[in-house]
Amino acid sequence: MAMKKTRVRVLDLGNMTFSKKELVRTPDEAAMIVSPAQAVLIEHHELGRILYDTGNDEAWEATYSDDMKATYPITKLVGIEEALAKEGLTVDDIDLLILSHLHFDHAGGLRHFEGTRAGGQVMASETELHDALYKAYTAPGGISGAYIRPLYCLPGISFQPVPDEGMKLADDLVLFVQKCHTAGLVGMRVKLDGGWVIFCSDTVYTREAYEQQLPPGGAINETDDEFFENLKLLKIMEQTYQAEVFFGHDIDQATAWQAKGWIE
Ligand SMILES: [Zn+2]
Repeated sequence: MAMKKTRVRVLDLGNMTFSKKELVRTPDEAAMIVSPAQAVLIEHHELGRILYDTGNDEAWEATYSDDMKATYPITKLVGIEEALAKEGLTVDDIDLLILSHLHFDHAGGLRHFEGTRAGGQVMASETELHDALYKAYTAPGGISGAYIRPLYCLPGISFQPVPDEGMKLADDLVLFVQKCHTAGLVGMRVKLDGGWVIFCSDTVYTREAYEQQLPPGGAINETDDEFFENLKLLKIMEQTYQAEVFFGHDIDQATAWQAKGWIE
C-alpha cells in the first residue's frame, strides 16, 4: 500500500542488561549497560510498510542457550506482534521485512511472519544467509554464537538475498551490506524530509563507540579490524549524505527516537 510520504518510527522491543564491554571496549570490568532491542517501521511512499528487524523471541526461555541467557539476560521483552499492535498493525500489514542479520535479538520475531506476504520474501544479506544457514545446520544443537536455528529456519519463511554490492529499493531507500559483526550485515539508508538517516545496526552499537572509535570488547566480532574498516566507510557515508546515524543498541538514542514517534 502506497503512503503519502516516507516516514520512520523506532519500535521498542524491550532490552537486555549486561556487561558494558560486550558493546563498547572499556577498562571498567564492572560497568553494565542496558541494550535496547528494536525494530524500525517505515511507511514508504511507494513501497508501503517496511519493517527492519524483529527483536527477541518471546519464547526465549526455551529457545536461547544457557550461555546466551547468562551473558545477555533479557530484562524486558516486547514481542514484535505486541509492538505492531501498539501501532494498530498486524504482521499481515507489513509489505516487506528486512533483517539486518540473523542473530537472536534481531530475528527472534521472524516466526510470526510465517505464511505472510512479507514472510515469503524476507530480505537478508546473501553472504549472511550462506553463513547463518550453514551454521544452523552444522553446529551442535543448531546453536552457533548468536545464531539459533529454530528462529530463522522456518517452513513458512523464504528469503530474498541482498547482494554484497547492496540494493536500491527506491531513490530514498537503499540497503548496503557491511562486513562487520557478521559475514554480511544489512544497513539501511533512508531519506526523510529532515535528511538522510543511516541505520547501521550492530556494526556500531552506540554513539560512544562511534565517536570515540571504540570496538566492542566481547567475543562476537572476530577482529577489531572489521570494526575500524567498516567505521571508516560509515563515516564517509555520513559525510556524503549529511546523514544522521542510528546505532544498533544505544539506549539513550533508542529512547529519544521512540519518544519522537513518527519521524518525517
Ligand atoms: Zn548481532
